[in-house]
Amino acid sequence: MASDISFACDCGTVTGTMRVISGEGDHVVCHCTDCQDLTYHLGHAQLLDAQGGTPLYQTRCARMHLDTGRERLACLHLTDAPTLRWYAACCRTPLFNTFKNGKLPFITILTAACDPARREAAFGPPRGHLFTQDAIGDASALPKMGMATLMRRFFVRAIKDVVAGDRRRSALFDAKTLEPIATPHRLTNEERQALEGRRTDMDPSPA
Ligand SMILES: [Zn+2]
Ligand SMILES: [Zn+2]
Repeated sequence: MASDISFACDCGTVTGTMRVISGEGDHVVCHCTDCQDLTYHLGHAQLLDAQGGTPLYQTRCARMHLDTGRERLACLHLTDAPTLRWYAACCRTPLFNTFKNGKLPFITILTAACDPARREAAFGPPRGHLFTQDAIGDASALPKMGMATLMRRFFVRAIKDVVAGDRRRSALFDAKTLEPIATPHRLTNEERQALEGRRTDMDPSPA
């Protein structure tokens, strides 16, 4: 069964739809420091849950279609890792995570950007929580998602994308070169230091 769920940045400039096919993607909550840092860097820390988690849905790369605001999409590398973080430059809403280029195809959407009225029905409950060792407060009760399970499912999807040619049908990468449609910004030392400062004197009640 397939259903389409719409997404939008805060100001409504960037819009599109995500096709959700039952059993295909993975709905997880990631507590890693990079996902937390991203929301702080973009001024969207209110998206984190009480334990610093970001709800994410990861699926095949061509399931996302952009309707408006393509020219306002921007992307950044928080660290030296190859993860590319996409956001709407108009209002700094974090939207997607991908690999640095389209050669390793996948897309992860921050479900907070998706239609709140349809989110629960479309994504279902999370399969589990990732990087709970980085969670804020006591995360012992959170159901964990095993990385091995996630990676196995990840590679099955990526192989399908390569075989089907879908990695050349991603909205975020050039069909020929597989390079991102926006020039990635790598955080400067000052920007990284600001995030490290946040972590060392973390506000006990992040707004
Ligand atoms: Zn916007
Ligand atoms: Zn993460």
